[in-house]
Amino acid sequence: MAFQNGLSGLVVKVASRCNINCTYCYMYNSGDESYRLLPKVMTENTVNWLIEKTIQHCKKYKIKEFEFILHGGEPLLAGKEFFERFAKKARQQLGAIGVSVRIGVQTNGIMIDAGWCKLLNTLSINIGISIDGPAWWHDKYRMDHQLNGTHAKTIAGLRAAQKEQCKIGVLSVMDATSNPIEMYDYFKGLNIKDLDFLWPDHHHEKLPELYLRKVSSPTYTPFGDWWITLFDYWFNDSHNKPRIRFLNQVILMILGVDAGFESLGGEENRYLIIETDGEIEASDYLKACGNGFTKEGINITTHELSDALNAPLMKMHRQSHRMLADTCRQCSIRDVCGGGHIAHRYGNGRGFSNSSVYCFDLMKLLTHIQNRLLDRLSAETIRQARLTRMSYADALDSINV
Ligand code: SF4
Repeated sequence: MAFQNGLSGLVVKVASRCNINCTYCYMYNSGDESYRLLPKVMTENTVNWLIEKTIQHCKKYKIKEFEFILHGGEPLLAGKEFFERFAKKARQQLGAIGVSVRIGVQTNGIMIDAGWCKLLNTLSINIGISIDGPAWWHDKYRMDHQLNGTHAKTIAGLRAAQKEQCKIGVLSVMDATSNPIEMYDYFKGLNIKDLDFLWPDHHHEKLPELYLRKVSSPTYTPFGDWWITLFDYWFNDSHNKPRIRFLNQVILMILGVDAGFESLGGEENRYLIIETDGEIEASDYLKACGNGFTKEGINITTHELSDALNAPLMKMHRQSHRMLADTCRQCSIRDVCGGGHIAHRYGNGRGFSNSSVYCFDLMKLLTHIQNRLLDRLSAETIRQARLTRMSYADALDSINV
């Protein structure tokens, strides 16, 4: 089957190892050992194939904008020269066929110093830094190989990037046992303007700790409750509030703009992963489904990017918001939820044909946000936008719970 739209971008694993060892890491600590067989850093030859195949893909699908997210492991381990060569080649060669290239890097921040900041600024590379909260929280999860906390070094990297006026976003893995207000105030205090919280990587065969202790149910929704507290606090914050990507996207979708992405909505997923050996894969989060789970034998050196779009797992990932379990199909909020992230649906002997392991959390959260938004709109706007108020109980009713 040919896809009408090409890719929006690639997550490029430029380094397969990391200088730290976070407890929850899907690369190294979720049962997937495939990283051990990968080159530590992507070779020049693989980069050349990658750019050549991206050029062909952009020509084929008439793409005018393309994004590379440099990722790892810890991507800065690839070194400054790698970054310089990559950015220059990508921009020159794709620019020559009229494609505008955006580049970002997602790092743990530890290696960031003034030298890196100057280089990333010169190359117009945006920086995403992973920070899980204040030191006493961050250091529980984000430790080095000697089990030392990494917070102080990460914050030093953040401060260096702020001093050099780099374009920075912060990614934080949420922990539903934390206090979301404390987290929000902490990041705001760090002067973070662009923030996001990631749902932890779990599915029906690898349940979140909280659901091992007590089964998820319509009345036990710790993840949804965490987000609701955060949303209410953020929504009512009238002073210099940061953008929280997940909440922004939910709001847009409720208002009828399909700003969907990997986690929610109805849009196709238009990003793929390239490993350091050139292997093309679906979402990294799917590594948590088993050892070698994401390997489909498709490599940038031997295949076209469009071949990857039809490989079974990548195809399923791409169409994950359309390939829904029966429960999700009948759910009244499926247009916004989209069944959640595909990796969170895995298990029960049914592959991905399940609702999300966070189903009740998502349902409670999304109906809550919708109703808080409607509270702020006039009756006329609600009528014109064809919005309908829906309670959590209504949504539960739609899936016969
Ligand atoms: S709320 Fe649950 S049933 Fe509804 S679409 Fe999302 S995961 Fe599926």
